[in-house]
Amino acid sequence: MKEILYSSTRGDKGRIRASEAILRGLAPDGGLYVPDSIPGLEKTLREISSLTYQETAYEVMKLLLTDYTEEELKYCISHAYDSKFDTEEIAPLSEAGGAYYLELYHGATIAFKDMALSILPYLMTTAAKKNNVKNEIVILTATSGDTGKAALAGFADVPGTRIIVFYPKHGVSPIQEQQMVTQKGDNTCVIGIEGNFDDAQTGVKKIFTDPKLKELLDSKGFQFSSANSINIGRLVPQIVYYVYSYAKLLKEGRIAEGDPINVVVPTGNFGNILAAYYAKNMGVPIAKLICASNSNKVLFDFFKSGEYDRNREFVLTSSPSMDILISSNLERLIYHIAGNSAEADAAYMEKLTKEGRYEITDEMRSKLTDFYGGFATEEETFATIADLFNKTGYLIDTHTAVAASVYGKYVKETGDKTVTVIASTASPYKFTRSVMNALGHGDDNCDDFALADKLSEISGVAIPEAVESIRNAEIRHKTVVDKTQMEKAVKDFLKV
Ligand SMILES: *Cc1c(COP(=O)(O)O)cnc(C)c1O
Repeated sequence: MKEILYSSTRGDKGRIRASEAILRGLAPDGGLYVPDSIPGLEKTLREISSLTYQETAYEVMKLLLTDYTEEELKYCISHAYDSKFDTEEIAPLSEAGGAYYLELYHGATIAFKDMALSILPYLMTTAAKKNNVKNEIVILTATSGDTGKAALAGFADVPGTRIIVFYPKHGVSPIQEQQMVTQKGDNTCVIGIEGNFDDAQTGVKKIFTDPKLKELLDSKGFQFSSANSINIGRLVPQIVYYVYSYAKLLKEGRIAEGDPINVVVPTGNFGNILAAYYAKNMGVPIAKLICASNSNKVLFDFFKSGEYDRNREFVLTSSPSMDILISSNLERLIYHIAGNSAEADAAYMEKLTKEGRYEITDEMRSKLTDFYGGFATEEETFATIADLFNKTGYLIDTHTAVAASVYGKYVKETGDKTVTVIASTASPYKFTRSVMNALGHGDDNCDDFALADKLSEISGVAIPEAVESIRNAEIRHKTVVDKTQMEKAVKDFLKV
């Protein structure tokens, strides 16, 4: 097997092994770690179709995390994908309305972030051991709602780690907030900020790359790492379910070996769809990568015009986990389509920081023909939830509905009948109020938990344990700070 090394999207100096890249999270120059090549699958998809989710995970992850031993990887995988998931399949496919929904929300926090964040703590603590790290690892995370809880659940009480999560105080759903502020574990810290997700993410990146702070922490026995999707340890586990879903379609005879499929991904930070792009490059016959945005449609505009421009109003929508104007992981795609050029990428990212915009070359644009960008308005999103439910009885959340709506528009526009997998990224119970509004059962006098009871009555879908367990849980995290005070909050928690 070929060894894969990782380098920063902004500088080629020093290639490092996968475990080191996972420990660091972000490169010291502010870039993201990328593999020096994308390996092809070793087994055929037909062979993979007889494997379990865990076995598929091993087949995929061993190719990219080449410095982990077989024993280490299998340990990480078996501890991550276990009974925390409410189905043995881990990521089931459901057919509804002419598409296959890949349900990625059966883990502990009922959103797709669990697919990667249930394994990241194992990958990271294993990496710490492998690299003789003596410091305590401090996971620093900005969340638009779902990453935070999934990371907290993954890292709570993991020896040798602490976790600090920043979320936009007024930018997450009540259930999302309740999930986070009730988090147990002495090593956990949850802080609301007066600002939006981009502020939280920018603040975290700044803290991360501050050399003085790094030195101070090191002297106190701490070092930062990241659980955000900029960490390659998040991206690699996400490739697995695209391989798995193709193999599943094959096994069930829905497609023949080699048939193309399309993939639709409700997109925010561009991590999930980038994983699909990597899966394609590893050999999964994915034809179109359909990137679905909500009203924060910066990516739609980018795919249409070749210009990325974040200078626009930030809109709060009913799909808050996609309310993002700076899609961090797009940087990895930019690097690849620039011919794996760190120099070109660094120049674009500097422009993005300074002017809030950049425009790629025609040659780079010609490498994006597999991508199709679309967006859905709030009305379209709600109509899609109601329509699918009324016609088929299948219930989807607001994020998934953005994808389903964009898919509907894509089919209308192109007539493309290719078998299609829609990434279903959250349980409808995570966004109960919006889903109930969409179904015409909104009720301002009900809290979100009472609404969940009603939704269960209407839909016949049981309320997930993840919602039941926080209903009356004690609120343990109450701190709210201004977006300019994030560094101080970190120091306070670590007492440095
Ligand atoms: C995070 C998230 C997304 C966006 O995924 P990215 O990898 O950031 O593009 C979509 N839907 C839900 C429910 C999420 O939690």
